[in-house]
Amino acid sequence: MKKELNLSKQNEQFILEMKKQDPIFFSNLSQGQSPEYFVLACSDSRVSPSITANMPLGHFFVHRNVANQVVESDDSFSAGLYYALKHLQIKKIIIEGHTNCGGIDAACKTRQQYGQKQELDQKSKDSQTAEEGIMTWISEIQKNLHVQQQCKDLTNFELVKLNVLNQIENVKEHPVYKKYGESVEISGYVFDLSSGKLIEVAAPNPEAFN
Ligand SMILES: [Zn+2]
Repeated sequence: MKKELNLSKQNEQFILEMKKQDPIFFSNLSQGQSPEYFVLACSDSRVSPSITANMPLGHFFVHRNVANQVVESDDSFSAGLYYALKHLQIKKIIIEGHTNCGGIDAACKTRQQYGQKQELDQKSKDSQTAEEGIMTWISEIQKNLHVQQQCKDLTNFELVKLNVLNQIENVKEHPVYKKYGESVEISGYVFDLSSGKLIEVAAPNPEAFN
């Protein structure tokens, strides 16, 4: 599974491969972008959206964070969504979760562990600050999943699916979407790590086309 990184060499291989497919690929790429899709996905190294959808560069405008969260106070997400809707005028929003998501796992397990760790860290202000930063994000995931009950009752796939469905609702409520994207359809998918399949979990809202 481990792969040594030789960035220059691997980049050369990438350039050769792309030029073999299309000799003017990079010339076209440098002219500008007009992607059709805004994709929100998890930061997990196994779920790169363009690769899993077999899409060449230039088609997916991507925002990634731990457990693919839509958080209204997240300026980075808001900026990406704004640029995608207002300037790139993308045609579709895709929320992509995945099975065995570490962020969701942490949300289910962390509440108790965090309490214990807080006591251990009381003497270390720096450590508490770092921990609090992480907890802020994990608590966002927890808010969406109502972790106390759902983590016990649902399977891993159901939890991941629920997270995606909740993020679709969060996008619909996002001020940037309300102002610039209300006619843009939103679809949800779960990338199944064990099969490689992208499974659709939410069809576009038919009202979006009215
Ligand atoms: Zn994840």
